[in-house]
Amino acid sequence: MNLFETSRQVTVLGAGMVGVSCALALQAKGWRVSLVDQQAPGEETSHGNAGVLSRSSLLPFNRPGLWQSLPSMLLRPGPQLKIRASALAQWQWLWRFVWHAKRSSFEVTTVALDGLIQLSSDTHRAWLKKAQVENRLRDTGWLWLYAHAAAFESGAASREILQEFGIATEVLNAASLQALEPHLAPAFSHALWVKDAASVDNPRAVVKAYAKQFLEGGGHIVQAQVRAIQQQPNGWQWVNQEGGVHWTPNLVVAMGPWSESLLEASQLPTNFKINMGFERGYHRHFQALDGVRLGRPIYDLAGAYVLSPMKDDQGADVFRLSTGVELAARDDAPNLQQLEAAENAARRVLPMKSAVPDSDWLGSRPTTPDSRPVIGEMPNCPGLWLAFGHQHIGFSTGPGTGVLLSELMSSEATSIDPRPFAPNRY
Ligand SMILES: Cc1cc2nc3c(=O)[nH]c(=O)nc-3n(C[C@H](O)[C@H](O)[C@H](O)COP(=O)(O)OP(=O)(O)OC[C@H]3O[C@@H](n4cnc5c(N)ncnc54)[C@H](O)[C@@H]3O)c2cc1C
Repeated sequence: MNLFETSRQVTVLGAGMVGVSCALALQAKGWRVSLVDQQAPGEETSHGNAGVLSRSSLLPFNRPGLWQSLPSMLLRPGPQLKIRASALAQWQWLWRFVWHAKRSSFEVTTVALDGLIQLSSDTHRAWLKKAQVENRLRDTGWLWLYAHAAAFESGAASREILQEFGIATEVLNAASLQALEPHLAPAFSHALWVKDAASVDNPRAVVKAYAKQFLEGGGHIVQAQVRAIQQQPNGWQWVNQEGGVHWTPNLVVAMGPWSESLLEASQLPTNFKINMGFERGYHRHFQALDGVRLGRPIYDLAGAYVLSPMKDDQGADVFRLSTGVELAARDDAPNLQQLEAAENAARRVLPMKSAVPDSDWLGSRPTTPDSRPVIGEMPNCPGLWLAFGHQHIGFSTGPGTGVLLSELMSSEATSIDPRPFAPNRY
């Protein structure tokens, strides 16, 4: 093997949407890629999400106005945000996250995320077609639902920003909402139909289709639990749970919520620390009643849930109910309160059959203090690349992350500005 061949060899750790996307994009540039995960591709956070791909997701949760609303959020927490005692362990992330709600940070983040979302949207479409699963994508937007005029008014600042970015939306009244989604109860006076948005009907199936594409392109998938990584004179090695050691010239860490713990468990020649937070979220599936449909995911702001029409693995119609944020330690036991409250709220607006047995799921949105994922080479660690921290939007932005990372690793001009995502900002 010559030097060029060796330098174009890489191992990607983590086979969620982000890792699989990095693997596919690197493979497309001629890299020899191995993908490592302790499970089959797409079984963790990239499985449990709401499947929404939207330009409106450029709005991070830490935005101007958060400081003013923080006292009431903490004193009278609503269904959107639950804070458990174990969240205190994340205080370093929390205060930095709140600090980044300032306008200067917000402006950089929204522009950066919009670029990443648009690049990802184009890439998703190309990959869905290549993997012959375009039928999983619905180009029908998504709906933000408001129970009364005052609630709608409180969203004016967000709507202004969507308008500034030229994101297509339409304001609906009760009647036009009813015409668009006839099965919804008449519980909403206003809705915002975000039209620059799409959704998929089974996120896990999409990750698996991309992973299959990667295998068909000559990639390797290795099933192993990674315990630590170590720098070597001419590359990197990763160690599995039995202590087995694997060498690679280049390594990508794309293990979503588990990425920072891996870096901490490894002896690295840097004291790099991101202080990642874990915005946990739950989902539950419900069988659809005969003839009851939604044409697109709905986001009920008062109920603090998203209800997405999906197909289960057998192809049956289900609704996936996903919750707002629970701040708690990543591995804390589940607490179903938020999910139960979301179910009660959702049942008031859409008739559904009983919950699908054993469908409850809990995952963590991995969130950096400035709400921007970390994409790039780790400072002082040549050959060690990072791709994690995609908060609420990693399913949609995985492909753009893969493209950007592959361009950086191949020393090419990049499709979007990489600086807002650079690890050295920490
Ligand atoms: C309730 C909820 C709703 C969401 N809705 C949306 C949405 O509508 N749209 C959107 O874009 N995003 C959404 N998200 C966010 C999105 O799901 C995540 O940002 C995204 O899935 C992160 O992808 P990932 O590949 O980084 O992580 P993951 O999908 O979690 O992948 C990480 C992989 O690392 C592997 N791994 C972990 N530890 C090890 C180890 N030691 N050894 C080997 N492998 C390991 C895991 O098995 C896993 O496969 C939502 C998240 C939640 C929780």
